[in-house]
Order: sequence, then structure tokens, then C-alpha cells
Amino acid sequence: MDAPQTPLEAPKTIGQGGRRVWLYPEWFRGRMLTWRTAAHWLLIVALLIGPWVDIGGHPATRIDIPGRRIHFWGLTLFATDGVYLLFLFGFVVFSVFLFTALFGRVWCGWACPQTVFLESLVRPIERWIEGSAAQRQKLDAAPWTAGKIGRKLAKYAAYLVIAGGVGTTFTAYFLGRAGTFEAQLHPSSHPAGTFTFLFITGLLLFDFAYFREQTCLVVCPYGRFQSALLDRNSLTVVYDAPRGEPRGKKGTAGAGDCVDCRRCVTVCPTGTDIRRGVTMECTQCMACIDACDDIMAKLHRPVGLIRVASENAIAKAPTRIVRPRVIAYAVGLVAVLVAFGITAAHHSEIELGLSRVVGTPYTTLPDGRIQNAMQLRISNKGEQPHEFTVEPVTSGMELLTPISPFAVKPGRVEHMPVYLLRAPADVRDRHETVRLRVRDEGEFSKEIDAQFLAPDPAGGSR
Ligand code: SF4
Ligand code: SF4
Repeated sequence: MDAPQTPLEAPKTIGQGGRRVWLYPEWFRGRMLTWRTAAHWLLIVALLIGPWVDIGGHPATRIDIPGRRIHFWGLTLFATDGVYLLFLFGFVVFSVFLFTALFGRVWCGWACPQTVFLESLVRPIERWIEGSAAQRQKLDAAPWTAGKIGRKLAKYAAYLVIAGGVGTTFTAYFLGRAGTFEAQLHPSSHPAGTFTFLFITGLLLFDFAYFREQTCLVVCPYGRFQSALLDRNSLTVVYDAPRGEPRGKKGTAGAGDCVDCRRCVTVCPTGTDIRRGVTMECTQCMACIDACDDIMAKLHRPVGLIRVASENAIAKAPTRIVRPRVIAYAVGLVAVLVAFGITAAHHSEIELGLSRVVGTPYTTLPDGRIQNAMQLRISNKGEQPHEFTVEPVTSGMELLTPISPFAVKPGRVEHMPVYLLRAPADVRDRHETVRLRVRDEGEFSKEIDAQFLAPDPAGGSR
């Protein structure tokens, strides 16, 4: 794309000597804002209701650290299900890579919790209490009167309520409802929970009241590595420079379609000028599209001077959706989903593992029988307690189980001692695979193999 005509600039929020420049972005209702607000509110509801509604007797979402399990909308994962966290990590990484390569920073403007709460909850409240961008700027510059103090107090009180609500929900993700209220009402009973609640509430209040777009510009690493994921075929918010340049008032001879009204800049929540090209400051919120479309409509010119397109499309070159990086990210994503599907299809409420007790590989008993001491790991991921028994499947093998039946509570992983015994005459090899069957009091029955170690039947040493 032809280079924008302005030199590179620092972010608008950073002034001389690193001083913070406060922005007063204007609000403009357009089709992008309507879609974006709908998406934001869907996400706000999804983020906030998880710990407060139950599915199958558990909170829909909870990270239960003491119980070593995670509830996620009907799915319960235990500490032994760490592989699912790997799948989640792979899913997030490949999704971000793929969506960024295809659609630029759509995450930032449309789905990032910071943007979602700031743009669709905090700023509307600010506009409701303090008025339009011009009114807010005037209020900030005005001397402190009772009216100004009242408005500021009302605004910060509203922010505190939102921050406290989100902080409470965040804490409930970990402590559950009862634990969260306990931590809030009796801080000494749960210092970690109280600290989490106060920390998150304070952090959000700081973000809503002061830091705002600086989080995207200064703190968040994603904006910085996006340039490695984008190319000229990625769909991003772009200014059609060949059509818009040279800028000039309506009627100026030789001027392009951009009348340099700066509406696209005044609505931008990060203060960036999209006409400079794709920048780190652009969170792809698309407010500038609404603003510029409105200007174009008023001038009876085609809308879309700022639009979602690839840099190649703006340069009138073909846009390639399918390209090596997209294929690579898509293959990675599909591989993660397939692996997840296969693992989930074999997901069992009860998982078994057999391991040898560390130390002596075998013991010869006074009556001559060979004994192998093993541990049967039983993971009960269900909601009911179970009692397990073990029996030999391999002929000529005996089992000694000091605790039988062996009880395992829901959500617990226990180790059952099991002794395998064979008469020397039955031993065919020094390393022999033998088979056990594990049953519970119901219909569960599963066979599991073990390596039986014994002295060499031919009489040699081990
Ligand atoms: S809103 Fe459109 S016409 Fe106005 S300055 Fe921005 S790009 Fe140019
Ligand atoms: S340049 Fe446009 S899309 Fe980017 S952050 Fe500003 S208003 Fe949003």
C-alpha cells in the first residue's frame, strides 16, 4: 500500500518527557459499534455468570485448587487431566496465530476483556455522568465546584461497583461462591481470597479510572508481536490511501476523497490516525470506519474509505486467503482439536495405573513363592465413591490385597497395595507380562498388565 503521508509518531497518549496525555474519544453510533457492543455484552455475560450458575451440582466454571479439579460448563477435569490444559494452551496459541494472520487484531477490539469492559461498560457510564467528549474535557478543565465533585464521585463510585463486581466474580472462579463471601466478610478466615478480591478490584479500578488504553499501548505484549503474524494479505482496518490522498476540502482540485475532517482520529480510543497505516496502537475496534462512513455518506461519496481489507486489496493486488502461514496455523489447530477429540472420546471416570514399589524387584518368600510388590493407582473422576477389588487373570498367579475392597472417594487419586505371587514352577521368564482385573461394586471392570519379575527359571542370576 502507498505509504501514509505523515511521519511516524509516538502514541498520542504519550507526550513530552513521557507525560500522559489524556484522551477524550468521541462516541459515534454506527453499524460497527452496534455489532461490537452486541459481541461485548455476550462476552460480559459469559465471563460473569460462570461461578454463579450451577451445572450438574457444580458451578459452571470453577478452578478448584484445593480439590485439584476444574469445572467448565459441565466438564470436570482433575489434576491427572493435565493433558487437557496442554490442549487448551495449543488451542489458544494456534487460534490467536490463525485469527491474527486472517483477521488482524480482531481479538483486541472485539473480545479482549480489557476492551470489552472499558468500551461497553466503563465509557458509557462516563458519558452518561459527564457527557460528551467536549463536555468531559470542559469539566476536567473547570475549577472544582460542588457539581464537579459530585459528578466525579458518582463516576468513581460506579467504577468501584463494576471493579468490585468483577473482582468478586474473579475470586469466585477460584474459591466458589461461599468461599468468596466468606473471604469478603471475614478476611482473617481466608487471607489469600481476601487479597485476590482486593487486588483484582484495585487493579480494575486503576485501569478503568486512569490507565485505560495505556494497557494496550504500554503493557500488553500482543500488540507488539502482531507484526510477526500479519502480512499484506491479512484483513485489517485500513485507510484506502490511493483513494483518499491527497487530502483536501471538498471541491479542492485534484483532492482525493479524504476531506481531512479528522473524525476518524477523534473517535479513536487510542488516539491513533489510521491514515498512518497499520500501527501498534490500532486495536481494530472499527470506530473509525463508522465515523468515516458517516462523513462519506454526507458527502455523497461511496462509503469504505476506511474499511476492513488487506493491504494487497488496497493496492489493487490479489488477496490470498490461503497461504503457507495460514495453512501451518490451521493444521496446528486441527491437530490440537483432533487430539482433544480422541482423548475426550476415551475419557473415563475411573483411570488405573500400576507401578512397582520402589526397592526390591521381587522377594522370595519362605515357602519358595516369588512376590512382586506393586501399587495400583486408582483415579476416581466421578461424583460417586467406589470400592474396588482386584483379581488375577493370568493362570497360576495369586494376589494378596491387604485392603479389599479398596474405597476411593469422588475426585480422589488413591494407591492400593497389591502383591503378586507365583510359585517358582509357574515362572516361565525373568520378565513376564501378567494380567489383573480391577472391578468396582457396579459395572466397572478393566484389565491391566504388569511386568512380573522373578529369578531366572534356568537358575542363572538376574
Ligand atoms: S474520517 Fe474519513 S474523511 Fe475524515 S479524516 Fe478520516 S479518513 Fe479522512
Ligand atoms: S484506528 Fe480505528 S480501528 Fe484502530 S483503534 Fe483507532 S478507531 Fe479503532
